[in-house]
Amino acid sequence: MSNKIPFRVGLGYDVHRLVAGRRLVLGGVEIPSEVGLEGHSDADVLSHALSDAILGAAGLPDIGHYFPNTDASIEGIDSQVILKRCAEEVAALGWAIGNLDAMLVAEAPKISPYLDEMKQCLSQTLGLPADVIGIKATTHERLGDIGRGLGMSAQAVCLLYR
Ligand code: MG
Repeated sequence: MSNKIPFRVGLGYDVHRLVAGRRLVLGGVEIPSEVGLEGHSDADVLSHALSDAILGAAGLPDIGHYFPNTDASIEGIDSQVILKRCAEEVAALGWAIGNLDAMLVAEAPKISPYLDEMKQCLSQTLGLPADVIGIKATTHERLGDIGRGLGMSAQAVCLLYR
């Protein structure tokens, strides 16, 4: 049984460790850094949170279902490919993305100079106007593992409409 409400919201959350010898990719933008996020894909924690928010809003399973980290053929995959697929999955069910909002939690480097570029990249990936994509960043005030710079996390919400 399904209701007829023409709006749905979804929540996404992700965490990746920071390690030496990896690129740092956030919101599809490569950022100069001594350390990068570890993962089976390019480990773009921000794009992963957005992806899960989109899927979740439609009641679909998380990105691990569509892109399992046991699949060697997708090792190092560009997370913009993942994000695009998620938008396609919800579009196939008759949903359009109303807006997205995300919060990145990272102690360093400073993200603000890259926010506009990230929005442009995500807007291109999703075929959405940049002004429906909110990207914000905060530190963890040096508290806990994220605060010690051992990793980054991201949270996101998505509104879908019929
Ligand atoms: Mg992830």
